[in-house]
Amino acid sequence: MLKVLKFGGTSVGSLDRIQNVANIIKKLKDNGDSIVAVVSAMSGETNKLIEYASTFSSKPNEKEMDTLLSSGERVTSALLSIALNEQGYPTTSMSGREAGIITDTSHTKARIERIDTEKMKTTLDDGNIIIVAGFQGVDIENGRVTTLGRGGSDLSAVAIAGALEADVCEIYTDVDGIYTTDPRIEPNARKLEKISYDEMLELASLGAKVLQNRSVEMAKKLNVNLVSRSSFTPEVEGTLITKEENIMEKPIVSGIALDKSQVRVGMYGVSDKPGIAASIFTSLADENINVDMIVQTVGVDGKTDLDFTVPTTDLEATKIVMEKFTNDCVNIDYNDAICKVSIVGVGMKSHTGVASKAFSALANNNINIRIISTSEIKISMIIEEKYSELAVRSLHDAYNLDK
Ligand code: ADP
Ligand code: ASP
Ligand code: MG
Repeated sequence: MLKVLKFGGTSVGSLDRIQNVANIIKKLKDNGDSIVAVVSAMSGETNKLIEYASTFSSKPNEKEMDTLLSSGERVTSALLSIALNEQGYPTTSMSGREAGIITDTSHTKARIERIDTEKMKTTLDDGNIIIVAGFQGVDIENGRVTTLGRGGSDLSAVAIAGALEADVCEIYTDVDGIYTTDPRIEPNARKLEKISYDEMLELASLGAKVLQNRSVEMAKKLNVNLVSRSSFTPEVEGTLITKEENIMEKPIVSGIALDKSQVRVGMYGVSDKPGIAASIFTSLADENINVDMIVQTVGVDGKTDLDFTVPTTDLEATKIVMEKFTNDCVNIDYNDAICKVSIVGVGMKSHTGVASKAFSALANNNINIRIISTSEIKISMIIEEKYSELAVRSLHDAYNLDK
């Protein structure tokens, strides 16, 4: 079988952990599998490099940031390759460029345009193991190194698995699969045997960082057999992320996600006339600010209130945009002491009373809901951040997810 494996930051977080990864790969190779392994930087390394850059600039050049950040994964790819070669397993490391990963030019959040697989294919045919530095590619116009956004090694792995038509893409991390919620918040969280691409995509987009959302989107598009499992307990089978029709039993609610990285922007006393919302959200979009939830209250005396959320990382840019609108309202405030809890499940499509159960669970704990938004398979609520863990646990309990 051709297997694409991905090892995240904690899985390669020390020299011992790198040796542990080498052992996992050796075992699979001994079983006759062909292996492409994608590695992250050692845990904490990418954050450390970002901090280094921030000592010199509050807005560092994005091309230089990509050169800087891509170095972390190159270190681990080379070390793992050195270890395997020494232990008698012919291995080649490849940067994103050497692996043929061609991206667009949006530095720090590049999108993969295509993968030129020739070099990987001939290297595999020669019997070598390949270790690819994750999270990076090369831009199609200028040939500079690009990175794929935080958590982007997951995307590297899935894209490579798709391009090589691998039998499976296994994402090794520090938990042994996808749980009904983050097991570090709710110890009673239950491991799922299977989850649909759509549910996993929602959970990932709504804050469950166990898989990067773009990697799930790509796995769905390319029909990649995606598995989430642990490098700490490689003998334990993980969770399969697959098509909805491959899952027999469809629970109404599959999981709860938590996202603490949002800020609520409140605009009070906004003139209630056509065009205001259009011009605010167009200005935010022009600055590439990703507005998430929006609510506008019913207008009274020609005035209305407008609330919306943006990622914390876009807060400064949002404040600059909003300066243009100070004359269109009484005041604007920013609250980052909020979080978003979400309930996800494909079964919601065909069941009633799912939302009311969530609202009751929070009300029973005296947790006030500031904003609600729903789609076919999810319900999201903005609440005060200090209640985040209590909210996750009470929702988990309300839907009996531990059973
Ligand atoms: P890696 O460094 O391997 O990429 P991440 O830290 O990005 O790993 O993701 C793994 C973490 O995701 C786990 O340690 C866990 O705390 C968290 N997590 C959040 N939601 C879930 C979930 N539903 N199931 C499993 N893990 C989750
Ligand atoms: N090292 C990068 C990050 O920390 C990419 C990854 O680990 O997936 O975001
Ligand atoms: Mg990750």
